[in-house]
Amino acid sequence: MAGATDVLLRLEAGRLKAKRLVSIAELPELCGIRSSATSLHLGAGAYLTDLMADPGFRTELPSAFEAARQFASPQIRNRATLGGNIGNASPAADMVPPLIALGAEATLASKRGARTLPVEELFLGFGKTAIRPDELIREVVVPRRKGSFQAFAKFGSRGANVISVVNMAMCLELDGDRVARARVAYGSVAPKPYRASKVEAYLTGQVLSERLAAGAKEAVLSDIAPIDDVRGSKRHKQRLAVNATQDALSRALAGVRA
Ligand SMILES: Cc1cc2nc3c(=O)[nH]c(=O)nc-3n(C[C@H](O)[C@H](O)[C@H](O)COP(=O)(O)OP(=O)(O)OC[C@H]3O[C@@H](n4cnc5c(N)ncnc54)[C@H](O)[C@@H]3O)c2cc1C
Repeated sequence: MAGATDVLLRLEAGRLKAKRLVSIAELPELCGIRSSATSLHLGAGAYLTDLMADPGFRTELPSAFEAARQFASPQIRNRATLGGNIGNASPAADMVPPLIALGAEATLASKRGARTLPVEELFLGFGKTAIRPDELIREVVVPRRKGSFQAFAKFGSRGANVISVVNMAMCLELDGDRVARARVAYGSVAPKPYRASKVEAYLTGQVLSERLAAGAKEAVLSDIAPIDDVRGSKRHKQRLAVNATQDALSRALAGVRA
């Protein structure tokens, strides 16, 4: 366990059995945030509060910053780690869609060495990851995307301290008003965080316009397949995902027109 904000709840609910717990909280090798010429390296053990206080995280990764800002409450953000949010493998995890949209990779370390995987490839299903039993996420490496348009949106049953009914992150590389490259990811619309390749294909190469934003509805609906569950109906989640996508595209358009 790292911050144990998920592990302790699972133990208490009887969904996790453990004879012994090993804390990896504040291991120096997992903590810290540093930048290189091409990337930001976010320690898996970094608390969300620490990420938010980092100027590079705040200014270069505004979508991830916004996800952290809307995450839980100050008390939870003081304990919750980035690695724990990934390792828990919830389809509703808030930090994951921005990392997928930003093209981040996770470095997985074990006694055998280290390997990297794109963040979206870490998730195999509900609560299941490709992290091997002897591996830890050491860090998440996020390419610098200076000048890109980034957005994050989260919908819950109330305004704060809530698990997402739907969340969405978008990163657009723009060439003037043309979308040179689009990466879009959603949470809570599938058993695992979901990279929306049809939405990306719909946007790539297109000029930003009101028409493009309006037409995104069809691409979103053909891409995601949420289910009815305790947090909301399939129809409600579809509508939230469409609204989040169209709103982000409208903001991108306003940005290029400004
Ligand atoms: C009141 C409350 C509100 C919450 N609100 C939100 C919210 O708004 N958004 C959201 O997304 N989540 C929310 N959560 C869930 C939780 O806080 C996050 O998922 C958090 O990021 C988990 O981090 P942690 O360090 O506490 O993980 P832990 O509970 O310590 O671990 C979670 C899982 O990840 C594994 N793990 C931890 N670190 C690593 C690592 N470095 N490498 C490999 N595996 C690792 C653990 O073995 C475990 O399986 C909330 C939880 C609570 C209790």
